[in-house]
Amino acid sequence: MGLTGWTCRDDCKYECMWLTVRLYVQGGHRVPQFHGKWPFSRFLFFQEPASAFASFLNGLAGFIMLLRYKATVPPASPMYPTCVSLNAWFWSTVFHTRDTAVTEKLDYFCASAVVLHSVYLCGVRTLGLQRPALISILRAFLLLILAAHISYLTLVRFDYGYNMAANAAIGLLNVAWWLRWCARTRLPHGWKCAAVVLLLQALALLELLDFPPLFWVLDAHALWHIGTIPLNVLFYRSVPPSPALKIGACLKIGVLGGVPLLW
Ligand SMILES: [Zn+2]
Repeated sequence: MGLTGWTCRDDCKYECMWLTVRLYVQGGHRVPQFHGKWPFSRFLFFQEPASAFASFLNGLAGFIMLLRYKATVPPASPMYPTCVSLNAWFWSTVFHTRDTAVTEKLDYFCASAVVLHSVYLCGVRTLGLQRPALISILRAFLLLILAAHISYLTLVRFDYGYNMAANAAIGLLNVAWWLRWCARTRLPHGWKCAAVVLLLQALALLELLDFPPLFWVLDAHALWHIGTIPLNVLFYRSVPPSPALKIGACLKIGVLGGVPLLW
């Protein structure tokens, strides 16, 4: 417990929370959130076991796909170094394992980085690699937005409402741009890209169903993280066998909301 940052004081807070929950339940009252969070049953040192495990599985699925991608595509490929979603899922796993001020920020910031990176990749796909100057401007602009976003939340105020609004705005731009690309692309698997974009948005709506955790383990956020795991598999299965990819040399990788896409 100590190795993962649990102090005696943290443990005391956890036990006090459950003492209070039991009193609420015994009195027939609705269980409230504690400091903005539902009470979760701890497993070993995992504070939110379902979300932590689902985040780990998302990262694992992304990692397996990345290995397959790197085994298939020549290292000189422009998209070869893509791995940002692994970073986001790693910090998501850490945050849901142990919620502290630092891990919370790392989870939020890396999630924002994934969405902005997705916008960047869509820009690369849409504007084309033949126009490196335009891509460089887009990259610099998006990095500036990320730097400003992180600076505001770190140095001025950690505003949850602003963070959600900013991510939603960039997310909508991301969805609109990707769907436009999907509608125009002549690649045979373009519709699968559109399906994943729409499914990711549908799953994100789960966040609005802010209900107390089932069995004190499974809340809407965990269901959202669980729901994104099969999307990795969907796209993994949509990829033609490796020899066809090598011949066609048409494999590209994108990161949509943390899910690497291959087509
Ligand atoms: Zn999460």
